Amino acid sequence: MSQQGELFDTQPAPWDLDAAADTMIATVVFPEAPMGEFDYVVPLELREVLQPGARVRVPLGRGNRQVLGYCIRIENLNAPSGRLKSIGTVIDDPPLVSAEILELVHWIADYYLCEIGQVMETVVPASVRGKAGTREVAFLHVPTKVAAKFTQLKLPKKQQAILEHLVASPRPLAMAELTKAVGCSTAPVKSLVDKELICIEKKRVFQEAFEEATTAETQAWQLNPDQKVAVDAVADALRRQEHETILLHGVTGSGKTEVYIQSIEEVIRYGRQAIVLVPEISLTPQTRRRFQSRLDGVAVLHSNLSPAERHAEWRRIVQGEVRVVVGARSAIFAPVPNLGLIVIDEEHESTFKQETAPRYHARDVAVQRALNAQVPLVLGSATPALESWYRAQKNEYRLIQLNHRVLDRTLPFVGTIDLRNEFRHSGGKGALSRPLEQAMKSSLAEQGQVILLLNRRGFSTFIQCPACGGSVRCPNCEIALTHHRDADKAVCHYCDYQIATPAACPDCQFTGIRFGGLGTQKLEDEVRRKFPQATLLRMDTDSMRSRGAHEEALDRFRHGEVDILLGTQMIAKGLDFPNVTLVGVVNADTALHLPDFRAGERTFQLVTQVAGRTGRGDKGGRVLVQTFSPDHPSIQAAVEHDYERFASVELRVREEFGYPPTVSTVRLVFRGEAEQTTEMFASGMGDRLQAGLDQQGTAARMLGPVPAPITKIRNKFRYHLLIQSADLDGVRQAVRAAQADMPKSKEVQWIVDIDATSML
Ligand code: ADP
Ligand code: ZN
Repeated sequence: MSQQGELFDTQPAPWDLDAAADTMIATVVFPEAPMGEFDYVVPLELREVLQPGARVRVPLGRGNRQVLGYCIRIENLNAPSGRLKSIGTVIDDPPLVSAEILELVHWIADYYLCEIGQVMETVVPASVRGKAGTREVAFLHVPTKVAAKFTQLKLPKKQQAILEHLVASPRPLAMAELTKAVGCSTAPVKSLVDKELICIEKKRVFQEAFEEATTAETQAWQLNPDQKVAVDAVADALRRQEHETILLHGVTGSGKTEVYIQSIEEVIRYGRQAIVLVPEISLTPQTRRRFQSRLDGVAVLHSNLSPAERHAEWRRIVQGEVRVVVGARSAIFAPVPNLGLIVIDEEHESTFKQETAPRYHARDVAVQRALNAQVPLVLGSATPALESWYRAQKNEYRLIQLNHRVLDRTLPFVGTIDLRNEFRHSGGKGALSRPLEQAMKSSLAEQGQVILLLNRRGFSTFIQCPACGGSVRCPNCEIALTHHRDADKAVCHYCDYQIATPAACPDCQFTGIRFGGLGTQKLEDEVRRKFPQATLLRMDTDSMRSRGAHEEALDRFRHGEVDILLGTQMIAKGLDFPNVTLVGVVNADTALHLPDFRAGERTFQLVTQVAGRTGRGDKGGRVLVQTFSPDHPSIQAAVEHDYERFASVELRVREEFGYPPTVSTVRLVFRGEAEQTTEMFASGMGDRLQAGLDQQGTAARMLGPVPAPITKIRNKFRYHLLIQSADLDGVRQAVRAAQADMPKSKEVQWIVDIDATSML
């Protein structure tokens, strides 16, 4: 009996059933090991304080060390709760995340088969958890009882003056504020505190004030009829307070952003807030300005925010001071108190999928969040992901199309240049074909600007020995090293392994080693030679390393200081420069032959997006696409601006071969230092999964395990296996079971990627 009494220290005895019904149990998870959920008793004094979504300190393990965890659920149990420990302290009151976000967290953990604690750490930025940029300040105030009769107290003059000032103040004051106002030292204040005539309350305040979003009034456009249909659809869903996902398929330059802005104005009229997701690359001043000049209370969450700024923005959002949050992937977790709309611009972008745990896709999380909140979601793109298109075809999403550019501007003419012919005629000298070079000359002669896309950075993309046939590879990654001539190095683009440019073959010492393959640096060289008069700017991750370089480069281009902008996919998206009259795609095939079933889709998207950068002004514009495969359906469809044809051909292929979106994909990746151990572990897992699927009667196709296309990264061998199935729930169930009972291995790490988008 005494033992029971100890267990339920502050709780009623468990044999008293009525009272036991009142046992409050909190479920706690941890950000790191141990995994899983743990139950704790909530002591009486914390019952009012603790809410789900708050962090707590709880005793863990034999030694009962106090560990930080997240309370994810609270229940009142009927049955005695057994040998449970009690919650130690509550860290957040109010909780760190709202009930709405917590519901989303549960969904993510369940859908993506990952740990709730890990999801919590993703949802709440580290800067918020660490209260970045704040310090604790003691605020002083006079208790009401004292305030009522303080004039009757017999006190020294200074103390009387202090009380008078503090009673008259509309808010509590910090010590420094008070002593300065009254003109005294801290001693008399302290003695008032000792007499309990003044109370202290500790609060966190920001060390510095951050700039509030400014507003400027810019004229709204008169919507054209197509745009109006889209804005009305959003307004309608808002009015009905119903969830609807609207796929806004609008060609480049059709005025999608205007649709977002006017839809958001509608949301604000309802007193609600909107979240706008854009690819990180679009978080340029141009996008910021477009939103901030039209809407009040815009918070932009870009990657250059300091932790303190990020934390301050989070606070403003929680308090409802922000009406529109614009940000990259993780802004989907923005804690707006009264969500009215989510917009995802360029929804097809692969950056919306997180490639580390939790491997969530912001688009799918957005669908879930909008559904829970019963609000509309707008997915906008000129080249929707096939996943989205497929759902629109099945009427899960509502399709709205903007088939024309604004102001009757036409889509640019797109032509292909067959590189096979070019090589026959020119013997393959240089990257620019004669027709492209000619077109550049005439564009520049007419004061137009030129964009050249080449999706490979570096100088030469491989270094090969003609004597032994070997190529120079990264010893850690099994990847060809790229030659960077500016730094005179050979670099691995996966792990950044670097060596001085080899003068001879590392294997056979032959000195006639060759540098092949075209990177942006080599292209830059050639363009400078052929166009010595033109100002040229190269944009890739190598040339844009410093903070703000990207913005500065685009500013120079906008102001006409640069004639030719050359770069990787970084330049393909979202830019709206009316003076660009020519876009050259230097090699459309770079992504076409990758071992990935989305290779065709990526190629179509890239060519279409970069083509969309021209013809945005009065001068018109054209696009020349250099390719070895001019007849490839993805390239043909891009040339003809025919998304629907691309989608229907591609969907048929995917269906035939059993690839998404007609089925779901789950990918498992295994990594280990020893190749054989890794392979054995992977095939053990494959067998275990197959057995599980069979037992459940889940129809699924398993590919592998086989070595991943990139067989080795950072000295670890990689194997992967893919499961394709129409029954994702069934597959997840089988994987969850295998996760639970596969023996743990120190040598092999493995991850599960639901709806995997990367296949390499
Ligand atoms: P998208 O995002 O579809 O590529 P944008 O939103 O960038 O297209 O619009 C292209 C240009 O057309 C922008 O400069 C924008 O200000 C302008 N625009 C948008 N809507 C209209 C309209 N209804 N009438 C005139 N111009 C418009
Ligand atoms: Zn490497």
